[in-house]
Amino acid sequence: MNDADLERKRDILLNKLKNAYGVSDEVISAMRKVPRHIFVPENVRARAYDDTPLPIGRGQTISAPHMVAIMCDLLDVKKGDRILEIGAGSGYHSAVLAELTGREGMVIAVERVDELADLARRNLRMAGYENVKIVKGDGSLGYPENAPYDRINVTCSAPDVPPPLLDQLREGGRMVIPIGRHFQELYLVIKQRGKIKKIPEGGVMFVPLIGEYGFREDEV
Ligand code: SAH
Repeated sequence: MNDADLERKRDILLNKLKNAYGVSDEVISAMRKVPRHIFVPENVRARAYDDTPLPIGRGQTISAPHMVAIMCDLLDVKKGDRILEIGAGSGYHSAVLAELTGREGMVIAVERVDELADLARRNLRMAGYENVKIVKGDGSLGYPENAPYDRINVTCSAPDVPPPLLDQLREGGRMVIPIGRHFQELYLVIKQRGKIKKIPEGGVMFVPLIGEYGFREDEV
């Protein structure tokens, strides 16, 4: 499949996301700039613009494009936002967030699996993203070094909102996080005047968050 074929498939996918899910123009144009085919393994490259999750190794997956679009819309990223992502995986979602926040903002993405942290770094470098920092560690503890964050994006499912993430979200900030194990629901969490609003946004299916405020590795 050549570049023109991939581009054509990307256009068809983005039109579909816009029509079927009402994804905002900002998010569609950010996703148009990110070459998802660079972030998926060679053997599934031809399916890079299918609206489906794909395996990225170590039993993990890159989320389906519609899920990335829906989460980005809920996050409502502003230019210059400092964004924390938990679960860097392939680095694709981080790249879309980097487009949304622009050069004046930054994305810090935490990944617990060494091999995947390296993969995300490699993919982001290849795609030319310089304002994304990949950190190897347990993202259920957040990343206090760069807190507070304007936006937090969690791409693995947690038992509940990890308290360190709430602490590291700035006043007025937004977090998107899947919660649950067999049945999971996506939540938009808003921190306003010291209060937490947790808004359910529908059923989803993510790999588990494994860590201190996540699930134990032997229970998933
Ligand atoms: N956002 C990714 C999708 C990643 S799938 C992408 O665009 O490709 C979820 C990722 O969360 C997996 O890579 C998994 O290893 C990671 N993960 C699970 N528990 C974690 C934890 N406690 N801290 C950081 N990453 C975690």
